[in-house]
Order: sequence, then C-alpha cells, then structure tokens
Amino acid sequence: MAHSGTTQPSARIGRVFLVGAGPGDPDLLTLRAARLLTEARLIVHDGLVEPAILAMAHSRARLVSVAKRRAHHTMPQEDICALLVREALAGNDVVRLKGGDPLVFGRGGEEAEACRAAGVPVEIVPGISAANAAGAAAQIALTHRDHASVVSFVAGQCKGLSDQNWSGLAGVGRTLVIYMGVKTAPQIAEKLMADGLAPDMAVAVIENAARPEMRVLRGVLAGLPALVEGHKVRSPALIVIGEVTRERDATLAAIAVKAEQ
Ligand code: SAH
Repeated sequence: MAHSGTTQPSARIGRVFLVGAGPGDPDLLTLRAARLLTEARLIVHDGLVEPAILAMAHSRARLVSVAKRRAHHTMPQEDICALLVREALAGNDVVRLKGGDPLVFGRGGEEAEACRAAGVPVEIVPGISAANAAGAAAQIALTHRDHASVVSFVAGQCKGLSDQNWSGLAGVGRTLVIYMGVKTAPQIAEKLMADGLAPDMAVAVIENAARPEMRVLRGVLAGLPALVEGHKVRSPALIVIGEVTRERDATLAAIAVKAEQ
C-alpha cells in the first residue's frame, strides 16, 4: 500500500494540565480544577496537596507523588519535567497538581516550558495562592485604601537570600508577603531592619492558612524571630509585613492566637 503522510493517523499526544490546588481546602478549588481532578486518569502531585483533595480523584486514577519524604529528597525538577513530557508523548493526559497557584513559587513556569519545548500542549489552571488564602482566612486586607497600595510576594528561602534586593518592597504603605520564610525568619527581620524598616512595624504569621488547624500570630518586626520560634511555627506558613496586619478590631482575636509582645 502506498504510504501517504496525510492518511497516516498520527499518534495521539496527551495534554498536560498544570492545575492549582489552592491552599488545601477542597472548597477553594476552581470548578475547572475540580473537574479535571475528578476526570483525570493520571495525577502527578507535590507534597502541599491535601489528602482531602487527592481523595476527589477518580478511583481508577494513577496518583504519582513527587513530594518530599522524610529520608528522600523531592524528585529533581528535571525528572518531574521529563515525567510529564514522557507521559504526554505516550498519549496520556496528565494533571499536574500543585499547591496554591502553579505560577507563584510553584515552578509551573519551568514545567510549562519543558512541555512546550517537547511539543506537548499545556494548559494552566490558576489556583488560590497562599497569600490570597491567608489574607481571606485571617481577614488581613493585602491592600487597603488607608494602609497599603502595594503588595509584593517574595521567597524567603532561595538562592542567596542576602543577595535579594527587597528595598522598597516593605514599609509604610506597602505589604510584603513572604513565602517559605519560616526557617529564615531571623535573617529576614534583620535584613528588613537593616534596610530601614521600623522595629515596631506590624507583622503577622499565618500557618496552615485556610485549613482547620490555621494559626494567626501577630507581633512586630523586631519580635518576628521570637514569635516564630516561641510558637513553634512550622511550614506551610506565610509571613506578612506591614500596617495591614495590625489588629485593629478586637473581634479579630477570635480567629487569631495573639502574640505576647
Ligand atoms: N504555589 C504555592 C506556593 C508554593 S511555595 C502558592 O501559590 O501558594 C510553598 C510555600 O507556600 C510555603 O512554604 C508557605 O510559605 C506557602 N504556603 C502554601 N500553602 C500555605 C498555607 N496553607 N498556609 C500558609 N502558607 C502556605
């Protein structure tokens, strides 16, 4: 039989969906994320995704964790990218589930690039990022007409924290939201005060935002290291620096563990 490129059916390539799972509460998934999750046959997820969300997966879905386990390291990023591409090229649709939003400190950009480079179609489904979830759950307005017209998201633990230039990101009229900053809280406080921030600048630490075990701790910048250590704050937690975190309303204490200063 004559060989014709036009009649030869091409092997089906699967699609990769980079899906934001939000902060952990299944109610905070987008409808699109929930639909993809319940229909997916292959879900590749990281450690921040709550069991309650994974429980929504189809009973026949294959769940692959690339999470950190006590004795092991997270699967290297190149291996995760290679896994997504390999599965898609084998014809499988892949739901790549990530905590929060895939494009906020989620390395979703790298995974999307790897897919595009391999000719794999990729769709990105946004999720509620920890900053948005924490703001809502702790009733901290990230911007406020009276207190802040700028909000910045920074990573507290990354290549060369001390090389990061945060000057101008925090202070009067600004809100700084620090992801992954629990371990480096002392260096962060020191760095910001060295940049000229007032030691009595209001701060809040929100641990497990939007989850039943959430804690909201409030204090001032100079007391941040003691706040984190004294209350044994554990990841996942956000540090929010700025006037918007000051507790103005006594009823807020009902959703907060107030820090002794
Ligand atoms: N893509 C995610 C962030 C991943 S980086 C997002 O958009 O939210 C991981 C960091 O996110 C954690 O170290 C912590 O600082 C923050 N984080 C994630 N979930 C959180 C939660 N439920 N409460 C507080 N912080 C959270």
